[in-house]
Amino acid sequence: MKNAITLVPGDGIGLEVTAQAVRVLEAVGAQFGVSFRFETVLLGGAAIDEKGVPLPAETLAACKAADAVLLGAVGGPRWDDLSGARRPEAGLLGLRAGLGVYANLRPARLFPELRSACPLKDEIAGKGFDLLIVRELTGGMYFGDRGRSPDGEVAWDTERYSRKEITRLLTMAFRAARSRSGRLCVVDKANVLESSRLWRETSRALSPAWPDVEVSYMYVDNCAMQLVRNPSQFDVIATSNMFGDILSDEASMITGSIGMLASASLGDSGPGLYEPIHGSAPDIAGSGTANPLAAILSAALLLRHSLALEPCARAVESAVSRVLAEGYRCADIASGDPSEKVVGTEAMGDRVVRVLGRKEP
Ligand code: NAD
Repeated sequence: MKNAITLVPGDGIGLEVTAQAVRVLEAVGAQFGVSFRFETVLLGGAAIDEKGVPLPAETLAACKAADAVLLGAVGGPRWDDLSGARRPEAGLLGLRAGLGVYANLRPARLFPELRSACPLKDEIAGKGFDLLIVRELTGGMYFGDRGRSPDGEVAWDTERYSRKEITRLLTMAFRAARSRSGRLCVVDKANVLESSRLWRETSRALSPAWPDVEVSYMYVDNCAMQLVRNPSQFDVIATSNMFGDILSDEASMITGSIGMLASASLGDSGPGLYEPIHGSAPDIAGSGTANPLAAILSAALLLRHSLALEPCARAVESAVSRVLAEGYRCADIASGDPSEKVVGTEAMGDRVVRVLGRKEP
């Protein structure tokens, strides 16, 4: 059947926010005459409790068989004493590896209504920004040769990329740029690193095939500076695993709240993995206050990238904007302004569902 979605709520607020994302998917499906088939599986702490392992074989099989996977978050203090491979986070890493998702797409958008939550100066935040970081996820220094000298006094980690790995990542970034404003910035350290020079060489070889995409290059140190100086200059940023890890955290911080940020992890074929960037938030789990918008926006990415339902994706994104414009806030994005209506997880889901059901002028 088409539109098969495997749900992996995980632990803590993962269960609460994915429940709202499912309601929103059902509402947008009803609006556009599309149906989805959901199957829910265990991952992380919940899987350890029930099956004794963080990534049961049936979870991986159900995820691989789906068109897309929507994940909440894993982990929590109950499982903190377990060792490496038995921890909930090992389940998530195993799932990413098992699905072969090598590109992580992380949009960082400052919603105009949330400008007061942005830590940048007013004159910078006032211009707004809407950028997308495409980070290589399965290569580079995090996976390269590493070691220690016999006396323990010297250590090394190797940044290693093949042309093939760079090509498939950049192809995804070119495609993303084409579907947005047509601007792609490749971020590297080509003045020092040979691997970065291969990134530039590969990008220059690919760009004639994408005449509608304007490519620029920037050193990573400058990019880190430009993200706080003038983030509105960027549309799509493509970069390596380690540079992307750092830049995407910086970009998410300037949007104001972790409860708003979605992500997509994609491979060449097979299902994409969609998840909010936040964790299981044990400090607020069960209180009904978690912001479900990152999970809901992750569902919008799922509609766009895995199910090719762009109108549905846009409808969800504009419903979220509309709800914010109407003054609804979860506690994490509330500024204290008396005009705001602070709501909990379920009520925020209700607002998005209601806007989707409304006939807008
Ligand atoms: P976290 O993201 O869970 O929480 C950090 C802070 O942000 C907390 O104060 C939390 O209340 C708040 N927060 C997070 N999401 C929120 C939301 N949607 N709405 C409102 N507030 C929100 O990070 P942490 O506290 O470092 O980690 C908690 C657990 O989550 C750990 O076990 C960690 O390993 C795990 N974790 C999992 C993932 C994942 O599943 N992808 C990512 C990060 C952390």
